[in-house]
Parts: sequence; structure tokens; C-alpha cells
Amino acid sequence: MSRSLLILGATGSIGTTALNAVREGKLNVSLTGLVGGHDASSLSRLGQEFGCPCTLNSSSEVLKAFLEANRADIALNAIAGAAGLEASLLCLQAGMDLALANKESIVMGGDFLFSEAERLGRRIIPVDSEHSAIYHLIQGHSEVDSLVITASGGPFLHREDLASVTADEAAAHPTWKMGRKISIDSSTLANKGLEVIEAGFLFNMPAERIEVTIHRQSVVHSMIRMRDGSVYAQLSPPDMTLPIVAAVADGRQALVDVVRPLSFKGLTLTFEDWDRERFPLLQLAYEVLGKKAGYPIAYNAADEVAVQAFVDGQIGYLDIARVVGSTLDADWSAVADSYEAIMEVDGAARRLASSLL
Ligand code: NDP
Ligand code: MG
Repeated sequence: MSRSLLILGATGSIGTTALNAVREGKLNVSLTGLVGGHDASSLSRLGQEFGCPCTLNSSSEVLKAFLEANRADIALNAIAGAAGLEASLLCLQAGMDLALANKESIVMGGDFLFSEAERLGRRIIPVDSEHSAIYHLIQGHSEVDSLVITASGGPFLHREDLASVTADEAAAHPTWKMGRKISIDSSTLANKGLEVIEAGFLFNMPAERIEVTIHRQSVVHSMIRMRDGSVYAQLSPPDMTLPIVAAVADGRQALVDVVRPLSFKGLTLTFEDWDRERFPLLQLAYEVLGKKAGYPIAYNAADEVAVQAFVDGQIGYLDIARVVGSTLDADWSAVADSYEAIMEVDGAARRLASSLL
């Protein structure tokens, strides 16, 4: 019997890739519902095509009622941004496992999110390609020393005049086609910063046991370093279909022909260290993971405010890191261990970041 699936963020980049996998028969699921953000017409077109109910996330009550009425075995949360956290918690509370693309849920929710999942007896399976790779590599291995997360390095690895970068240039990613916010975060390596924090919580690893290496080809999705000195890597073409399908199937369906087989003809794989001065947002993420408490929430909130201000032409490209760095200079050491407490820190960090623009 096929698994049932509910998709949040159905109209976005990840949502579209998931629905394509359903169309192509790579993901054998029955869809129970689709949730969108603002684009009502695209959402209702998808609802008609797949013959399932859909709703815009217009309020917490609407979302909660929809999730309860259209409960599936597993929910794919592909909402962009901080709004994803509430949705993740509501999915768990409605009795669904979570295939989690929304990394903000993990960065903001941290230990609280995982303790909620445990309390409710629900599983959280990562969709982010790096974390999907590690999640599958780590199974059956108890002697893991550290995690090695690969980063494409984005479009500006060697660009000289970073101050003059425009929003369209920053959003043009060299290897992945993604939503606007994550694409801009990939150019500053804030996305890698969020992923280092995400990995810290997901795999219970301290910051000093998480490495980042620049790997331009986006073929090695991440690696685990074993205590015996060996390294295991996961390789596949840069296509989110595989991590999405693997998370939704969650070991309950055989995965065959999901992405084209990797060809080694003419394939060159390179790895290089990243430049701490060029990418301060990644450096800050390491400090944030070291401190935990409210710091990851403040990092995410300040980055969202700063990236939006950059897109709106209010600040320059290099100001994104300045705003995030100055926001983190405040004291975020109070632990937020409820949804309300997390959103309070998020709000305070947004107000501070906005005042620093
Ligand atoms: P997009 O911007 O392409 O899509 C975002 C989706 O979220 C849209 O369907 C949007 O709907 C919906 N949405 C926005 N706000 C809300 C809200 N308040 N409530 C409900 N739905 C909302 O983003 P991506 O698909 O690129 O990214 C989604 C998440 O997955 C992000 O957290 C990102 O970091 C993560 N991710 C993405 C990857 C990728 O390859 N794209 C790779 C790894 C992780 P609408 O358009 O109607 O507003
Ligand atoms: Mg990723």
C-alpha cells in the first residue's frame, strides 16, 4: 500500500520537485492535501490536478484544522522561512512524521523541536541534501568522528567587488535551482551556516566536529569522517528529487531509478577550504552553534531581515553580514524552550536587526 503524503509549500521549488516526482511515478504516494503561502491560483490548479484538498496558510487555526482533517503518514514541510516552524509543530501534533526541507524549523526549534517529536512519537527525516546524505551514511555506523558538509561556494567564490553585487546576481546559483532566499543565502554562505547549525541539532554534534569544504560540482552531498581515519561520501547528480523521495519513503518503499546514474566520464571532483574573511556569515554560524540558546534563532531572524532589506534595495550586499553580526552582539543567552519563547526571541531579533539596517 502506498504511503500518504501532505505537502506544505507545494507551489515552491521543493514542492514542485516533489510533485514532479509524483507525476513521474518516482514517488508512489497518495496525496491527502497541499498547503501554500500566498499564490492561491497556482495552488488551486495543483489541487485540481492531483484531486486533493488545498489551503493557503492564512492563520494558525486554518492550518491546524486542515492538517487534522487531512492527516497523512508523513508531511513534507517545504515552506520557506520562519513560518515553517509553526507548521512543523502542527504537523507533529496532528500525528504525522515530518520530511523536513524547512531548515529554519530546526535552526529555530533546536532541541525543543526534537523533544516535541520524541514526546509525540514522531520521526523527523531531513530533506536538505547535505543532511539527507549524512542521515543515510550514518545508519549502522557508531564510530563517527565528524561530519563534512560540502558547499558549492555559490556564485561569488572569487568575485572581487562584492560591495556592488545586485540581488539578481546573488540569486543566480551556479549548480542548484532554488527559491530566492536560499539562493541569496548560498552566495553569502549563510545557507551553509544554517546547515551547520541544522546538522548540530539533527545529529547532536558540537560545532568543532562539523567541517565545511567547498566542492564546486555539487556531486558529493556530504561525508562522514570515521574514528578509524576513513571517510564515507554520498554522490549523486545535483537533483533534490532523491533527498525528497528518500525522506518521504523513509525506508518503506524501494527506491529505483530516482535520479540518472552518475557518470564518471569527464567527472572532476575538487575540494577546497573556505575563506573566513570572505564569508563571515559562516564563521558566525559556528559561534552561534557553540552558544546555542537564543543565538540560532537570532541568526536566522537577522539574516531574514537583512536579506529582505538587500532585495528591497535598502542595504548593500556586504551589509547583510554586518546586520547579522551586530544583531548577534546582543545577549541571546536565555534558553527558549517553548514555541512562544522561540517566537519572542525571533521577534526581538527582527526588531533589533531592522533598527540596524
Ligand atoms: P520557495 O521560495 O521556492 O518556496 C516556498 C514555498 O513556501 C512556496 O510554496 C510558498 O508559497 C510557501 N510559503 C511561503 N510562506 C508560507 C507560509 N507562511 N505558509 C505556508 N506556505 C508558505 O522555497 P524553496 O522551495 O527553495 O525552499 C523551501 C524550504 O526548503 C526552505 O526552508 C529552504 O531553505 C529549504 N531547502 C530548499 C532547497 C531547494 O533546492 N530549493 C534545498 C534544501 C533546502 P507561495 O509561493 O504561495 O507564497
Ligand atoms: Mg542544502
